[in-house]
Amino acid sequence: MAEAALDLVVAALETIREKSDRAPRASKAALARLQSIDSISVSLPAAPKPSEGGLETSALVSHIHSATVPQTERQLRPPSDKADLLEPIRERVRACTKCAHLACSRTQTVFGVGNPAADLMFIGEAPGVDEDQQGEPFVGRAGQLLTRILKAMNFAREDVYIANILKCRPDMPPGSFGNRPPTPTEMQTCRPYLVEQIEIIQPAVLVALGAVAVEGLLGIRRTMRELRGRWHAYNDIPLMITYHPAYLLRNQAPSEKRKVWEDMLLVLERLERPISDRQRNYFL
Ligand code: URA
Repeated sequence: MAEAALDLVVAALETIREKSDRAPRASKAALARLQSIDSISVSLPAAPKPSEGGLETSALVSHIHSATVPQTERQLRPPSDKADLLEPIRERVRACTKCAHLACSRTQTVFGVGNPAADLMFIGEAPGVDEDQQGEPFVGRAGQLLTRILKAMNFAREDVYIANILKCRPDMPPGSFGNRPPTPTEMQTCRPYLVEQIEIIQPAVLVALGAVAVEGLLGIRRTMRELRGRWHAYNDIPLMITYHPAYLLRNQAPSEKRKVWEDMLLVLERLERPISDRQRNYFL
């Protein structure tokens, strides 16, 4: 009964969103009433803070959707099981030759790193030269910046899970330096491994780093300006999209750092993590 009522609320909000230019907003009181529907077997996780008076409908809809996914479906497996379940996928990735050119050029595959029972999972695009050599995602300059961002959020790398769309470094012409972005075909070919990783880890929040990661995960090509700073969803998991740390290395303006930081504040709020005044004011 309550589920049917929620479905109606969600459908009505989606209709309003589709028909109007601006997303309607929900008051704190409306949210509280939704939270008080007592036949829902799980409590609603903290919604993105309605600091500007309410939540955007898209955030609210994904919030309700993720809140109504039974806990048993989201966190059924204990951490050790999740690590065990990831192992056969890691082995398949290690032996993968689906992209023959990448299987030939890679030093090794780069599966993922961190806590398989993490609440928070980051998704990047593909290993670079450092990751290819070390077999771990985000260990080069961009990775070191990601580690600093995590630290500012009061997370260690071991607390979260980090993976890429592609598990192989995109090959480069002999003698050339730098990295190239993965092609759409490479991403489509490799995506099923990431889908399986997310399925097992079932994080409470996903963060996609950069437009290429978004294209690989959701199959949509949009600018970061359109995508960042608000909640999306991947298979009912709340998804925050923010700039890739490599972008921040290229563009060191405090305003760009602040944008990424504001996205991370939304993530912390969603995870119900304490946020100090000092943290709130970083890069202001
Ligand atoms: N950039 C990415 O997207 N992933 C890595 O692992 C390293 C750099």
